[in-house]
Amino acid sequence: MSAFAPLQPGSVIGILGGGQLGRMLATAGAELGFNIHVYEPEPDAPAARVAARAYAAPWDDPGAVAAFAAKCDVVTYEFENIPVEAVEAAASQAPVHPGTQSLSLTQDRVTEKTFIRDCGAGTADFAAVDSLAGLRTALEQIGVPAVLKTRRFGYDGKGQTVIRTLSEADAAWDMVGGVPSILEAMVPFTRELSVVAARSASGEMAIYPLGENSHADGILRTTHAPAPIDSATQAEAKRIANVLGEGLGHVGVFAVELFDLGDGQLLVNEIAPRVHNTGHWTMDACICGQFENHMRAVAGWPLGDTNAHSSAVMTNLIGHDVDDWLDLANTSDMRLHLYGKRETRDGRKMGHVTRLVPPTKAVA
Ligand code: AMP
Repeated sequence: MSAFAPLQPGSVIGILGGGQLGRMLATAGAELGFNIHVYEPEPDAPAARVAARAYAAPWDDPGAVAAFAAKCDVVTYEFENIPVEAVEAAASQAPVHPGTQSLSLTQDRVTEKTFIRDCGAGTADFAAVDSLAGLRTALEQIGVPAVLKTRRFGYDGKGQTVIRTLSEADAAWDMVGGVPSILEAMVPFTRELSVVAARSASGEMAIYPLGENSHADGILRTTHAPAPIDSATQAEAKRIANVLGEGLGHVGVFAVELFDLGDGQLLVNEIAPRVHNTGHWTMDACICGQFENHMRAVAGWPLGDTNAHSSAVMTNLIGHDVDDWLDLANTSDMRLHLYGKRETRDGRKMGHVTRLVPPTKAVA
């Protein structure tokens, strides 16, 4: 049971943010019979072109955000770097799920890691850094190698640098632009995993099988899922998803990036309070994918079944990878998703493909 009345089909769901995540949310919402409105500063953005209505206005215009939300029955967001003030402007006119708590706790890496530890999940050792002198002190405390990251607005490995010797402190501080940062111990992980989960307003959780992720140049390349995993690790990932979802009071989908230490321990790298690239495989290989489940949660509908009916390998199409679209479209076990971005640029996520491996069928 949800904690608020389920939205009728035909209701308006507003999405703050118009990138590919907003586009896939909009499509999933339309499939359930909702009218999707998108608010995104960039005109002609990927989500704007599949929505019933698109608003192109800046984030720092609370009047415009409020006018958008006034036409919505519920508002959600597709990425975590939306200014909290914009979300508050929307909340003055319509319910916003997930709430501002999920956003504000995860926008700052120090607040986020402190919260994760308070919830009873592990993280790398870390220290807040506000100056070059502070960085030197933190390096003595944390040791090397370590990773220096900006506290805010980092994504896809941007705004971070590895420090291998104490003499690299000055260069690292310059590299992050001398802004408030976090120093983290370098985690000797055996692999990177992620768990994607949906949580309803009544606290019901639906957790997807784990994905195993590989990155290149700080950008996600592939997710293999369901990841081969022992039952203790599976149980620990589920526990972590449950305590973090509960702690955030989250409504909607969220993802937790995990470092697998190979000895049954999982450390949390970060929480994304939204649908996530490492969950893209679920739209093709699970009974109900992450985008539909997010729309279900924010609409107060029952959550869909997160079980996988196939194994999957999701590969991002980055930059000119997308030029192979015709060959990819012509591959029988592959599902192709293109984001409709007008311009192909190096390092830009242009689409993804999911190769499906169905379980062997029993002969009747
Ligand atoms: P992030 O922006 O925090 O998601 O980091 C991007 C990538 O950098 C991660 O997916 C890891 O591969 C690597 N990384 C980040 N933090 C650490 C850490 N503390 N120890 C080891 N690798 C890290």
